[in-house]
Amino acid sequence: MRKVVIIGSGCAGNTAAIYTARANLSPLVVGGHEPGGQLSLTTEVENFPGFVHGVMGPELVENMKLQAERFGAEYRHGTVIEADLRQRPFRLNIDGEWIEARSLIVASGASARWLHLPSEQKLIGHGVSSCATCDGFFYRGKEVMVIGGGDTAMEEANFLTKFAQRVRLVHRREEFRASKIMLERARANPKIEIITNSVVEDVLDVAEGHVTGVKLKNVVTGEVTLYPIDGFFVAIGHIPNTKPFVSQLDLDSEGYIVSHGGARTNIEGVFHAGDVQDKVYRQAITAAGAGCMAAIEAERWLEEQGVY
Ligand code: NDP
Repeated sequence: MRKVVIIGSGCAGNTAAIYTARANLSPLVVGGHEPGGQLSLTTEVENFPGFVHGVMGPELVENMKLQAERFGAEYRHGTVIEADLRQRPFRLNIDGEWIEARSLIVASGASARWLHLPSEQKLIGHGVSSCATCDGFFYRGKEVMVIGGGDTAMEEANFLTKFAQRVRLVHRREEFRASKIMLERARANPKIEIITNSVVEDVLDVAEGHVTGVKLKNVVTGEVTLYPIDGFFVAIGHIPNTKPFVSQLDLDSEGYIVSHGGARTNIEGVFHAGDVQDKVYRQAITAAGAGCMAAIEAERWLEEQGVY
């Protein structure tokens, strides 16, 4: 029986692990299907406080893990495929093996949705990004492309015009899912060129090891056009990793955990941290802060239950 099980090993999970380990709760961290979370998919991180010259994403998240392990956190490979939160202790099925926990911190994150083109996947962190806030700064004076037709794509395209000299916003249809105001803002921005009815055929150039261009196909005319670009931002949404908790935890229409104040969920003893609940900020530092909050709440709740 574990006092605390932390589901997810990104910034939120690792921070919760550091705090609960230092509170002598010997947490178990279940790594998940993307160990290290979204930071493990980035290259340089320049906006995490405390690193004057930046830090590599995978190094930052690995350091957090080592820090948590120093205080006694245990990490386990695997993914929670089923959860029974209807009774206490809570039960989790990790790749076929059930374990029990007195409290849970759900920090399973939200995975960026990708196009899943082989070239896109190979160039992630080398010109392909799912986060303009994280990587926009690297494209000062350059040409970038944003894929998507929702509010995130509009927001990212606008944000990127602070740095890039031209932003091409590419959407697969004529109509946009984005709210009118966000779309109008993008349309009014002279640095943004909107390309509709177009899908990505290929991202170049895997052989060179970084993004040099993109081939777009117009779905109406069938014409394929090559656009030389330096950065390729995929903004087609995120998928919160909440499948095992459906119909137990309160989730919103998109599947994100609904907070019941602080780090609390609708179930006593189950806490949330990071992107699995946050679709607004989605930053490493906000996820880390949320992990700290969840750990403190879990510790207090366990104390109230007489578990030390
Ligand atoms: P959405 O699901 O709203 O939009 C995703 C977009 O990506 C759609 O235009 C969709 O196209 C497109 N898309 C999906 N899959 C593919 C694919 N395989 N190839 C090409 N295009 C694809 O996600 P968002 O992240 O934009 O927004 C999520 C939520 O967050 C929304 O509720 C949004 O309003 C909110 N939000 C609010 C903001 C704000 O108010 N400041 C900022 C950011 C997000 P199609 O339309 O054809 O399906």
